[in-house]
This record gives sequence, structure tokens and C-alpha cells, in this order.
Amino acid sequence: MSPREEILEKENRILKREYKRLEQDLQMLSNLNDYASRLRNFNEERVVAANRAKSNFLANMSHEIRTPMNAIIGMDEMIIRETQDPKISKYALDIKSASKTLLSIINDILDLSRIESGRMEIIPVEYDSASVFNDIANMTRKKAIDKGLDYYLDVAKDIPARLYGDEIRIRQIMLNIINNAVKYTEEGGIRISVTYDHDMETLFVAVSDTGIGIKPGDLDRLFNSFQRLEETRNRNIEGTGLGLNITKQLTEMMGGHMIVESEYGKGSTFTAVIPQKTIDGSPIGDFNAYLKKAMAQAEEYRPILVAPEAKILIVDDNEMNLDVIAGLLNSTRIKLTTAGSGAECIRCLKEGSYDVILLDQMMPGMSGKETLNVIRGERLADNTPVIALTADAIVGARDNYLRDGFTDYLSKPVMYEDLERILLKYIDASLLMTEEMLKYEEENKPRPIVLVVNDSPERLNEIKEMLGTGFKGVYVRDEEQAQKYLEGHEVEFVIRDGGPR
Ligand code: ADP
Repeated sequence: MSPREEILEKENRILKREYKRLEQDLQMLSNLNDYASRLRNFNEERVVAANRAKSNFLANMSHEIRTPMNAIIGMDEMIIRETQDPKISKYALDIKSASKTLLSIINDILDLSRIESGRMEIIPVEYDSASVFNDIANMTRKKAIDKGLDYYLDVAKDIPARLYGDEIRIRQIMLNIINNAVKYTEEGGIRISVTYDHDMETLFVAVSDTGIGIKPGDLDRLFNSFQRLEETRNRNIEGTGLGLNITKQLTEMMGGHMIVESEYGKGSTFTAVIPQKTIDGSPIGDFNAYLKKAMAQAEEYRPILVAPEAKILIVDDNEMNLDVIAGLLNSTRIKLTTAGSGAECIRCLKEGSYDVILLDQMMPGMSGKETLNVIRGERLADNTPVIALTADAIVGARDNYLRDGFTDYLSKPVMYEDLERILLKYIDASLLMTEEMLKYEEENKPRPIVLVVNDSPERLNEIKEMLGTGFKGVYVRDEEQAQKYLEGHEVEFVIRDGGPR
């Protein structure tokens, strides 16, 4: 071997050795990489699992809190309806208002946990834009006016009549920023202006107020969760600091964003920019005229829930819940049957028929869904609406219930207004008593007879008024006529010479 070949050979050996070492290093790196990625997956799984556990915990906690709240709110509603004492009525109304606040906090926490764990779904549907703005006006105007604020709602005439998007989330976003504007404004007023960009197919909801405003340095923190500004100054204003965080995240999930402009001490404008596709481009027109008409119609036609011929089956394992619903429906004269389990519900349905079934979800033994499957499978109540009663108030849950075959759902704590709305929707109209029927019944119900003997027409009128509708007054001029009447009739009282003055 020549010296040059020898050097080459040596270099080759070194290279081979180095190559081997490199290969080993590479292998080690790849192992490390594998390890890192396994660790990452493991951590991700742990994060996902932890998030899932948190969401489950929150959903369960919300259920656990909502069940006793159902009893508190329900029983409180009965006190409100039954008490004649203004002081007690005020206490009960305060309980109602505090319960509503507590519920909205629970809902916010649940919403946030669902957003964070990626379980919040945006569910787009086709909807009438006017009905959304109408509901928003109904839900916000009174609060502003009661606080002595001006309230303006400007809806551009060219907004498409039908849009495509998550109508429920749009309402939630609008309500949140409008309620904030009312909350953080003491003088002046609020203005909501809604416009639509046809090229971008995007809705702009701008809510301006003449309220406390926000310091420029605070603008960045505004959307953080649990962040409330100027805590000392605002300590009397109820809130958790979750609303704007939820609002921002929901807007972004829909492909939009939030804009805030504010001058400290002067007021703020929060604008939600939300893409919404046009379904029917015909312009919504003069919305304020529409609103006036809708309000007048609502005043005119107020359906009444009195249905002595209607039969309802309520299924819940919690006896207090059954008592609450039965109590709430007391004045409706609806025939109520209660069942404490799925099995009992099925027994009832084999023995009789009902106009509506209210079916609790979480029951030991057969769950609501399993009970529904038996009802439908055995064709026990083919045309009967079955309403899910549910304590998990997660918005979006409603779609699951509809998918499971329920006709509708009612969330606990059951508010009388919601119960009434659902029953008016699903009880056949022919079973509902109309205002005329109730009036006729009232006028013709047997009342104690009061015989009034007096010859002064003015005094007779006074007595008539005094007796009201609780008595049937018979009016005669003198003793002779009175005796004649008394011979042929049973009379409860006789008022002579004008009676008490
Ligand atoms: P909160 O439940 O406290 O109202 P939000 O998340 O809705 O929570 O708002 C966060 C904070 O932003 C509020 O605590 C308040 O300090 C401030 N804020 C929100 N809206 C307004 C507004 N219109 N004007 C002034 N400050 C506001």
C-alpha cells in the first residue's frame, strides 16, 4: 500500500467511524424526538382529559345547582302569585331577581367552559332578521327606559329579510353588549344601530352609550375572562367579567370580530362585526313601524292558558319538582297526572292518553331518552308532543334533544312564562278557553244574592259598585216588592235604607 493509499484508508476508517457515530446520534435524536412527541401527545391528552373533566364537572355542577334552584324559583313564583301582602311580595320578587342573576352566572360559566374545551358549536340556520331585532328590543328596551335612559334602535332599511347564521349566538352577543351599555350608563341613553354590508355579507351591530367610558389603558384587558374594570367604582353593578370574553370568542368563532371605541367619562361604542349570508335579500324595510305593529298586536292578543279539558303527564323522579310544576299550573285548571319514573310514565300511557307529556331527563332507572324510545317504539303516544325537562342548560343541548326525537325542551328551573309558552304552543287550541268564554263563565257562576231595598237611583248605583262582581244584586224600590221577591227566592243578605255608608 502506498503512503497515499494508507492515508486514504485511514481517513476512510475515520469517516466510517464518524458516520457510524452520526448514525447513532441520529438514532438517538430520532428516539428523543419520538419520546418528545409521545410526551407531547401525553400532555395534550392530559390537557384534553383535564378539559373534558372540567367541562363534565361544570355540566354536573350546573345540573346539581339547577335542581334545587328549580324548587326555589318555583316555590317563590307561587308566593308571588298567592300573597296579598306587599312586603312579602317584595321579598319574593327580590328572590326572583337574585335567582335570575345566579342562573345567568351559571350559564356564563358553562358557556365559557364549553368554548375553552372546544365543545361550543356554532349552528347556522336560516332566520328572519326582523324577528331577532324584535326580540332584542323586547328584551332590552324596558330595562333602559326603567333606568331613565333614552333608547334608540336604528335598523337599516336594506337589511336582508332572511339571513343564514347562528341566530341564538347573534342574540346572545347583542344582548350582552346592550345589557352592558345599560348597566354602565347612568345618564343619557343608548343607541343600537344595525347595518349590513351586502358585498361582504356581514352584519354590523354597534351599541353606543353615554356611560362611564373606559380608560385607554384598560381597553386591552376588557376581553379577558373574569376581568372587571374599576372594581371599586362598579362594585354595585352586578357582573362576573365573563360576558365580553364570551362575546368576543363567539364573534370570532363566527368569523367576525369586536371593535371597541371609548372615551373615558363620555361613553363607549361596542361593535360586533359578524358575517351572515343572505338567504332572502328583500329589504327588511321600516323596522320601527314593524316593531310598533308587533307591539300593538302583542297587546291586543294575549292568549290565556286555561284549559280544563287538557290532560298533561309530568314525569320527574324529584317530588319537589312535580309539586313546583303542579303549583305553577294550578290556576290553569289543566288535568295533571304525575309519574315518578320512566316505568310509571309508560304505565300511565298504556292506561290513558294525554295532550302533552313533560319528561325529565335525568332519572334513576330509565332516563328520559330511554323512556321516549319506549314510548315511540311501542307507539304509546304517537301524536303527543313530548317535551324534555332538563337541568343541563347548555345552549346547543336543545338540538340534541330535538335530534333524540323530543318535540321541544324546557330548561330547569322552570319559569312560569316558559312553561306557559310551551303549553300554549302544544296544547290544541280547541282545548284552550278564550277570554269570552272566561268572561261568560264569570258572569254566570252562581253568586250569593243580595237584595237591596232603596228608592234612590244614586244610592242604588253606589251600592251596585260596592257589591262588585262577587255578589248578584237584586234591586227593588220598596218593602212591598222586597217581600214579593223574598217569597220566591233564597237571599244571602238584605240591605235596607241604603245600608252602610
Ligand atoms: P361584567 O359582567 O362585569 O359586566 P363583561 O365581561 O361584560 O363583564 O365586561 C367586562 C368589564 O368591561 C366590565 O366589568 C366593565 O368594567 C367594562 N365594560 C363593559 N361594557 C362597558 C360599557 N358599555 N361601558 C363601560 N365599561 C364597560
